[in-house]
Amino acid sequence: MAEVEGNITIDGPAGAGKSTVARLVAARLNFLYVDTGAMYRALTLKALRAGIEVEDEEAVGELAGNTRIELRGGRVYCDGEDVTESIRAPRVSEAVSLVARSRRVREYMVQLQRALAAGGRVVMDGRDIGSYVLPEARYKFFLTASLQERARRRAAELARQGYRHPDLEAVEAELARRDAMDAGREIAPLVQARDALRIDTTSLAPAEVVERILRIIQEG
Ligand code: C5P
Repeated sequence: MAEVEGNITIDGPAGAGKSTVARLVAARLNFLYVDTGAMYRALTLKALRAGIEVEDEEAVGELAGNTRIELRGGRVYCDGEDVTESIRAPRVSEAVSLVARSRRVREYMVQLQRALAAGGRVVMDGRDIGSYVLPEARYKFFLTASLQERARRRAAELARQGYRHPDLEAVEAELARRDAMDAGREIAPLVQARDALRIDTTSLAPAEVVERILRIIQEG
């Protein structure tokens, strides 16, 4: 495979397959994978544990300023603690979009994300990466899938992680609520960048999406 330079952004709604695909694309190209959702989740976990009201934008903003979030070796650390598994808990998923509304939280995260991408050769996934965080990125993708399929995938993931009998309808409602909040927020909402390529993954396996993305990148 010819040498690829620049950054790659992968945005889309919850459960569209972004992180699986982004991780595989990064491995194939020997790029760094940056999961920005994990960063918002780590701060949310810290807020919940501290009993901070997640609707209080001021309080979560202040918390962000006193928090050290790191992505190292495929793991997520919050103030030095490995929180890779705990940030996937349903209570974090339920609260994270509220935390992600705060201007100060977003400023803090975006600064970290831009620093990680400064050297190039990064695959970054999220909601606002192609549209706001890295508008100059070389390759931009926007992954979607039907709500039913996204809920099915998320329920399967929860089952794999040991959460018992995730109810499909409840998962569907949670995803729809989160997407609406992410797309409706004032600052850097979930949106397809004008120059991003949209891929509907509803009937595609992750490997097929990866091949499609790699082919497009190769074609330059
Ligand atoms: O990607 P994931 O589903 O783990 O993201 C969790 C949440 O983090 C999203 O629903 C959204 O509220 C927030 N997020 C964001 N901007 C990003 C990535 C995630 O606001 N770039």
